[in-house]
Amino acid sequence: MTDCIFCKIASGEIPAKKVYEDENLLAYYDIAPKSKGHTLVIPKKHAANLLEIAPDDLSILIAGVKKVAGILKDELHCDGFNILQNNGEAAGQSVHHIHFHIIPRYAGEKLDFSL
Ligand code: AMP
Ligand code: ZN
Repeated sequence: MTDCIFCKIASGEIPAKKVYEDENLLAYYDIAPKSKGHTLVIPKKHAANLLEIAPDDLSILIAGVKKVAGILKDELHCDGFNILQNNGEAAGQSVHHIHFHIIPRYAGEKLDFSL
């Protein structure tokens, strides 16, 4: 999609700090991290949200989320992580290209999830 910032990241037109990439998926650090290592996982193929993405593409995406969470756990030694996925502006979605947030958590560190 021409006007989508995450499509532009997927095509390389806009730079991002990549954590993982394969033929279907891209994972990169969030520009405004909620915690150290806050990462977004996106499909390279545009879909706006959970209702729009095809089930097969969603399966590939969630398997990628699991893989990237494992990479972050190994590299950052976080104590846990939250998975967040917003749908619609009322729910806090600001970029309308589906993405899963992986937010690493560190023991004793409190986070404010208000959007
Ligand atoms: P959401 O509110 O769920 O739509 O999340 C969108 C996320 O994208 C926010 O956490 C932003 O900080 C992040 N974001 C926006 N633009 C960029 C960018 N160019 N590179 C990395 N993360 C971005
Ligand atoms: Zn897009």
